[in-house]
Amino acid sequence: MSTPESQPTSEDAASVSKKAAKKEAAKQEKLRRRQEQEALAAATRSLAVDDEQDPLAANYGDVPLNEIQSKTVEDVSRWNTSENRSVLIRGRAQTIRAVGKNMAFVVVRERGFTVQCVATVQPDTVSRQMVKYVAGLSRESIIDIEGVVSVPSVEIKGTTQQVEVQVRKLYCVSKAAVLPINIEDAARSDAEIEKALQAGEKLVRVNQDTRLNNRVLDFRTPANQGIFRIQSQVGTIFRQFLLSEGFFEIHTPKLIAGSSEGGAAVFRLDYKGQPACLAQSPQLHKQMAICGDFGRVFEIGGVYRAEDSYTHRHLCEFIGLDVEMEIKSHYSEVMDIVGRLFVTIFDTLNKTCEKELEAVGRQYPFEPLKYLPETLRLTFEEGIQMLKDAGIEVDPMGDLNTEAERKLGQLVLEKYGTEFYILHRYPLAVRPFYTMPCHDNPAYSNSFDVFIRGEEIISGAQRVHVPELLAERAQACGIELKTISTYIDAFRYGAPPHGGFGVGLERVVMLFCGLNNIRKTSLFPRDPLRIAP
Ligand code: ATP
Repeated sequence: MSTPESQPTSEDAASVSKKAAKKEAAKQEKLRRRQEQEALAAATRSLAVDDEQDPLAANYGDVPLNEIQSKTVEDVSRWNTSENRSVLIRGRAQTIRAVGKNMAFVVVRERGFTVQCVATVQPDTVSRQMVKYVAGLSRESIIDIEGVVSVPSVEIKGTTQQVEVQVRKLYCVSKAAVLPINIEDAARSDAEIEKALQAGEKLVRVNQDTRLNNRVLDFRTPANQGIFRIQSQVGTIFRQFLLSEGFFEIHTPKLIAGSSEGGAAVFRLDYKGQPACLAQSPQLHKQMAICGDFGRVFEIGGVYRAEDSYTHRHLCEFIGLDVEMEIKSHYSEVMDIVGRLFVTIFDTLNKTCEKELEAVGRQYPFEPLKYLPETLRLTFEEGIQMLKDAGIEVDPMGDLNTEAERKLGQLVLEKYGTEFYILHRYPLAVRPFYTMPCHDNPAYSNSFDVFIRGEEIISGAQRVHVPELLAERAQACGIELKTISTYIDAFRYGAPPHGGFGVGLERVVMLFCGLNNIRKTSLFPRDPLRIAP
């Protein structure tokens, strides 16, 4: 029944009072915002330089916060340093040096470029107070400089640009506090330290833990700028190569019911009352994607291992580059992809990351990786024989330990001239339960590992796609079937023969660059002793 408009009901009254309450709340919110803004303005006013004394005070000073809050639209980084040109540069004050009261030098750095800027007292632009302000800047502060480019008659040492910027205006956008480590110290090579020591000078050596505790500063060294650009490039080439070969990218879950692939190296967690864990690899789900007719898939994502190993090459979290594909007749199809993929990665890195590799090599000298256009493949038995011939005794049906792998790497380099090769047909007993046994000898398996400079970067194999055999192998390896029942069930509705491999991104970069520790190639490494920053 409709109600006449002139006679408000109790429902109308409730809605009116609701509206009034809303209006009041909006008013309060507006008031609160205004008060916040006023407080902010007061705070930033106190940051501004006392400009009363200096008629040129507008040419320098700390930029007030409210001006940096996306107020002006301006491209502040224009590194066109041709002579007599006016420039506007934003970068870090890498070094600051005053020369008397009338002149101060600042070397400004921005992503690998450095340029010397000089503030000299000038009647209409630069005051003595401004020179004092420049000289008082703290290292690594972010500054904006407006100036004019000139070419000095003498060589400028220690900068990438052979020009000088005559400063007209200089503003500090973000002040750096006292640095716990100097970038210059963190960028020094061991060779430099040794050389100085021999000359009687003791230079600071920044150790690994100090670096990792101050990772944001550590990133600013040329070597680290190089390492993480190289890392990005590896991921990009991996993705592009596989896309061009008809693979597509998937994203498997990292929260897993049960115990992932089993074993001790699992991070267990409580999933809303159910036992769960973090995925030790995308193994099971990438295979399930193949059962879903995805044909050829890859993934780039986090992998979690509750490692107890305190080694130079194990992390508790790393980036896995994973591939899974149907195979038509032989697991060599997977090894073909590995070979071509990695030769493409190496070729492209050498071509496109020259500067980065050079920067890494300056701090951590290394020899370029030796690899063949056609990747060498050896069987496990051949590898064992090579070790035996060199007088090294190893269990022919056991896994190779780190030392044996290193030694075999040396032998392979001497004999075949490559530091990148594939070792295949491993004994079945040393491979995971889902590995396909060899058709001619079930003591061996259709599996492989891939090595760079004598260290493993990849494990791969043809997988068991027959559910009965899969269950049998899992049981034989001591895995409780009910914990992987959804995985095994995925193979019950017809599953194509398939295989794949998993690569550790940090290891690839570490070994390609001949680095001695995986923590150098992990952005924020997680190891048994470190979960921060
Ligand atoms: P390793 O024998 O060196 O411990 P794995 O046999 O356990 O390695 P897989 O489980 O087959 O290695 O993982 C595939 C790839 O992932 C390895 O070849 C390696 O590049 C990388 N990887 C494995 N474990 C780690 C780890 N803890 N930290 C960093 N990378 C790892």
